[in-house]
Amino acid sequence: MLTKEILKLLTDVVGEERCKTSDEDLITYSYDAYLQEFMPDAVLFPKTTDEVSRIMTIASTHGISVTPRGSGTCMTAGSLAKKGGIVLCFSMMNRILEINTANRYAVLEPGVVVADVQKAVDGLGLFYPPDPGSVAVATIAGTVMTNAGGMRGIKYGVTRDYLLGLEVVLPSGEVMNTGTVTRKDVAGYDLTRLMCGSEGTLALVTKVFVRLLPKPKTKRTLEAIYDHIEDAGTTVAKIFEAGIIPATLELMEKTVIKAVEDFAHMGLPLDAEAILLIDVDGDQENVERQSAQVAEFCKKYGAREVHLSGSEKENEQLWAARRSVAGAMGRVRPTCIVEDSTVPVSFLTEAIKKILEVGKRHNVLTAVLAHAGDGNFHPFFLCDQRDEEEMKRVEMAKHELVDFVLSVGGTVSGEHGIGIYKAKYLPKQLGSVSLNLMRSVKNSFDPKGILNPGSFLEHAI
Ligand SMILES: Cc1cc2nc3c(=O)[nH]c(=O)nc-3n(C[C@H](O)[C@H](O)[C@H](O)COP(=O)(O)OP(=O)(O)OC[C@H]3O[C@@H](n4cnc5c(N)ncnc54)[C@H](O)[C@@H]3O)c2cc1C
Repeated sequence: MLTKEILKLLTDVVGEERCKTSDEDLITYSYDAYLQEFMPDAVLFPKTTDEVSRIMTIASTHGISVTPRGSGTCMTAGSLAKKGGIVLCFSMMNRILEINTANRYAVLEPGVVVADVQKAVDGLGLFYPPDPGSVAVATIAGTVMTNAGGMRGIKYGVTRDYLLGLEVVLPSGEVMNTGTVTRKDVAGYDLTRLMCGSEGTLALVTKVFVRLLPKPKTKRTLEAIYDHIEDAGTTVAKIFEAGIIPATLELMEKTVIKAVEDFAHMGLPLDAEAILLIDVDGDQENVERQSAQVAEFCKKYGAREVHLSGSEKENEQLWAARRSVAGAMGRVRPTCIVEDSTVPVSFLTEAIKKILEVGKRHNVLTAVLAHAGDGNFHPFFLCDQRDEEEMKRVEMAKHELVDFVLSVGGTVSGEHGIGIYKAKYLPKQLGSVSLNLMRSVKNSFDPKGILNPGSFLEHAI
């Protein structure tokens, strides 16, 4: 329990200003992008690794729960104090410490916002590809801990693919480094990768080392409009078969199109079944050739219209609709649950049809957005969490979806993580041997169980 005496010890580390305990402050940190809320007992804002280490030493000595938090955009309650205790918010550790152009890497504090990393390296002719929809607010450590993906996964991979190393503070308060800034490194177990996607359950990230790419010289955006969602799916498959790898390949299904149009009034076609939004990037010659080829595929496989941008400004205009999706979907019903199952790309059309069919059968309004190129789709369950009967139907629909996804070799989470939201599906996907090994790993890092307690391993039964 967080007694006055222990709170005093913690306040001595960060000072009164960076230790929040008022109801107003605690409520602010009691939710993320998931449905449930959990009140912490205090929120601390460390500024240095040494402060984090001292906080953890105190927490470990007194058995106080600590939940790390970046910007709280997590979709699964990962950043919430599910068992009370302290929320350790990293938003004030937000400096870019180094951008090394000779060796193409950057060293970042955990609370740096991903878009700020992208902007800073862009000015130097470099490129940090991971691009979650929440890029303007999500922190680098938050994206490491969820192994965030996003729009460019199809060509450039996910956060894990750019992570070189970490500085972390263990639950005991000890500081540890993993990885190096070199491309090659096989010294011992790969603790960097173990940490990546661990949802703040093993250690606290205090420094992130990421690799950078040279910036692509140019980019073009295509928008293809379809009367049949199957045709959009076939186009995606055919682009792949032809060996073309676009930088992004996003699909919006008709309920999403309607919600965005109602929200942003962009002149989207309300009678369309699907829109594909495709970016091709690279050098000028390749981009011209590939965008013409992609446009041809879209038409050949059923697009009724294809728009090809002619400038950076037009690229942005075409993307404006996609960027409005999160806000737009939130307006449709009081509750918007976002799934992120992933299937092998050849099953994508089947998966989309499945979710629409399951929704209809259970009388639940569903809609689909997909990072179509990598098989990662985001079904929206649009409902009202105050209506118990409706939420039971949502649960049944979700279960059916999970069964389908696993039956075709997919995963229950492509990028949002498990948290408390999807823990109940984990035994189905991983099995008990795997889960027990994960519990042993957790126990080695955190024998007292003080770091992010109540997370996925405890619910995966
Ligand atoms: C509108 C919207 C769009 C989104 N789009 C995408 C998308 O396209 N792709 C995608 O992958 N995700 C997406 N997300 C989900 C979310 O933005 C990502 O998971 C993001 O990585 C979370 O970053 P954050 O800073 O908000 O972290 P938080 O939500 O604060 O935390 C995420 C997890 O990391 C842990 N954590 C945070 N900081 C630390 C630290 N310093 N040390 C240890 N653990 C830590 C937390 O405990 C938690 O488990 C979206 C979310 C929203 C709301």
